Amino acid sequence: MPLQDFKIYMERCSRCSYCKWVPHMKMTERKFATICPSIAQYEFHGWSAGGRMVAGLSLLRGRIDYSDTLLDMIYQCQMDGGCDVSCKNQTDLEPLETMLELRAKCVRDGHVIRGHMPAIQSLRREDNMMQSPKAERGKWAEGLDVKDITKDRVQVLYHAGCRLSFDKELWNIARGTVSLLRDAGVDIGIMGKEEVCCGGRAYEWGYQEELARYAGRNAKAWEASGVKMVVTSCPHCYQTFNVLYDKIGMRVNVQVLHITQFLDFLIKENKLQLIKEVPMEVTYHDPCHLGRLAEPWIRWNGVEKKVMGQLIVQDPPKEFRRGANGVYDLPRDLLKSIPGLKLVEMPRIREYAWCCGAGGGVKEAYPEFALRTGLERMKEAETTGAEATVSACPWCQRNLLDVVKTMDTRMKVYDIVELVQQAL
Ligand code: SF4
Ligand code: SF4
Repeated sequence: MPLQDFKIYMERCSRCSYCKWVPHMKMTERKFATICPSIAQYEFHGWSAGGRMVAGLSLLRGRIDYSDTLLDMIYQCQMDGGCDVSCKNQTDLEPLETMLELRAKCVRDGHVIRGHMPAIQSLRREDNMMQSPKAERGKWAEGLDVKDITKDRVQVLYHAGCRLSFDKELWNIARGTVSLLRDAGVDIGIMGKEEVCCGGRAYEWGYQEELARYAGRNAKAWEASGVKMVVTSCPHCYQTFNVLYDKIGMRVNVQVLHITQFLDFLIKENKLQLIKEVPMEVTYHDPCHLGRLAEPWIRWNGVEKKVMGQLIVQDPPKEFRRGANGVYDLPRDLLKSIPGLKLVEMPRIREYAWCCGAGGGVKEAYPEFALRTGLERMKEAETTGAEATVSACPWCQRNLLDVVKTMDTRMKVYDIVELVQQAL
């Protein structure tokens, strides 16, 4: 839907600023009451969902023109969707969808962020966002003797995703996942150098055509291979395959699971037994793309109109995505099933979680802002008294590891798979 189709929401935005805060009834302490990293960092209304609603409207009405400041305002935002959840606690608007379309308009109009171009060019040339040669994509699996689905028939495809495929410091997560799945007797394969990006991150940056292109390529490759299931460690890929492909009308006839969902299933089926004590107190960081952004897409074809000058009426009534139906319980269940491990929660969790800082192209174009956002999350994690922060996303892992290097802290950062492995 083009930006014009969100005009009714942009006009309805009342500048109430709910999108900057955790909803009042969910606030647990003043220090961690904000939900929007953008407004917290830049302290000007434009750097919030409400501000971007006004900017989008002004752009459409020709009241403002593109400038470097406007682009920074639009892109200094993780697209994590915290604003969307909070806004919908009091008004049913679509700030996140509006911001996505605002970015798409920027790209269509030729106004792009310079800091994004290396990753976008890499995507177009090498099929990954990591500025690495596609021929090296399967290198993380060297020596594992794992099946290749382009040659062998397998039931389950493990899709590593761009970050795990090329970030050597994180290869242990992908390699550990393959070992775990094989230990559980899963007939698993990978695509090696033939694996391509999901297209989701580029879509978030406004490059909508890339999503359609990679949706088609992935769907075709999976169909040709005959796999029954795709498992990924990356919440961005998980959200893209399950939500964004559906949103653009590309239905894939393969079940896609995040690794936490599949491990939970394998443990419940007694295929994996967690028996070793891991005596540790940890806190869990909800990745935005596994949590509030992973809520299934809801199709709605109706008519919207304004009544009494202000209110919006939908016919038939529209069901909104409010972020509550993401994957929240399974990663926690997984942690709780590890003997000796204690889970303590941060003040902001589930759909009200604070972003790690790496999303929306911020890590690539505004790395300092990404670190500042991650620092706030790690400080929040420290208040729990836990020894470690655990996440289930390689992009969170990368940013939080980078943050920890700048801190004087004893806290560690783990991917959930690393802890499951310790407990086997
Ligand atoms: S986007 Fe929603 S929460 Fe934010 S100012 Fe507008 S109406 Fe209020
Ligand atoms: S997506 Fe995140 S950073 Fe952007 S406006 Fe919403 S809450 Fe703020």
